[in-house]
Amino acid sequence: MHIPMGLEAALPTDSVVTTQLNRVINWARRSSVWPLPFATACCGIELMATACSRFDLARFGAEVMRFSPRQADLLIVAGRVSVKTLPVLQRIYMQMAEPKWVISMGACASTGGVFDTYAVVQGVDQYIPVDVYVPGCPPRPEMLIEGIMAIQRIIDEDNIPRDPTGKRLPLNIALTPNYEVRPQPVPLGIQLPGPATNRTASGLVVPSRV
Ligand code: SF4
Repeated sequence: MHIPMGLEAALPTDSVVTTQLNRVINWARRSSVWPLPFATACCGIELMATACSRFDLARFGAEVMRFSPRQADLLIVAGRVSVKTLPVLQRIYMQMAEPKWVISMGACASTGGVFDTYAVVQGVDQYIPVDVYVPGCPPRPEMLIEGIMAIQRIIDEDNIPRDPTGKRLPLNIALTPNYEVRPQPVPLGIQLPGPATNRTASGLVVPSRV
């Protein structure tokens, strides 16, 4: 049995919807952002978590990670970039089709982080245009999603900044952390081994309820 959902349920099926072509194009673009993960370090793990079921990047239409620059329009730089790797990053950026966006994820990608050495790039924005800076070491998945939503809002509003020659300018959006740091040190509890009767057949100790 066909159950109408979404727009189908809200509108009679013989309705006609008119809108501007620009709005439809922007709606399609923002609903199908395809990221290219340039994950070089620990931030990449948070990027993977963002696509997993708990955070479910698919809700934002942006879960289709592409490893070919020709099929991606959002470059996510997650982790530190060495001077040796930089030409690869630049080549990938150049091979992506316009309109394209760049997220600098985490302290290392944006500033070099704790790696204040001659071998690590001290901010990828010195070499490629960055649209959104996602803070953190590492940023939580929610923070990365916030960055992706910032780009989606810009696409939706058709608000892409350009210079007088028509060349697109980086958006330069710096996000503010949306979580509070827990007080340190975190109190720890120690579970002492219980009597032998609490042991399971596999030898694990079941904590006794006191
Ligand atoms: S910002 Fe922190 S978590 Fe991310 S790559 Fe650098 S050291 Fe790792």
